[in-house]
Amino acid sequence: MSIYTCPNCGKKAFGPVTKALAGRMNSKGKPCQNCGKLCVNGKGATIFNFFFSIIGIIAMFVIFIIAPKFAFLSHYEVPIQAGIVLALLVIPRVIFAFSFKLHPSIRLEPLK
Ligand SMILES: [Zn+2]
Repeated sequence: MSIYTCPNCGKKAFGPVTKALAGRMNSKGKPCQNCGKLCVNGKGATIFNFFFSIIGIIAMFVIFIIAPKFAFLSHYEVPIQAGIVLALLVIPRVIFAFSFKLHPSIRLEPLK
């Protein structure tokens, strides 16, 4: 089964971009182009994102602590911190686009 296959209807209705935008299990998800049901990136993606965020926050904290001791770090601390924040936002989406299976959204859909 392709990672771009909709878990609700079985059609390959997603692409790297729509999958990246589908978010994690705690997000609203993206509707399938075929059946319209919301899909999110599954457990693996959610766990990956959790650890990735922790690593990023630890890295930010470590840089904040050690920056005054290193001329290079203290000079570039702001862009480095901004870069980590950007990486935390962008990298998981890039990884979601190319790996992890889709999962039906567990959030209740609003009644139409
Ligand atoms: Zn579908």
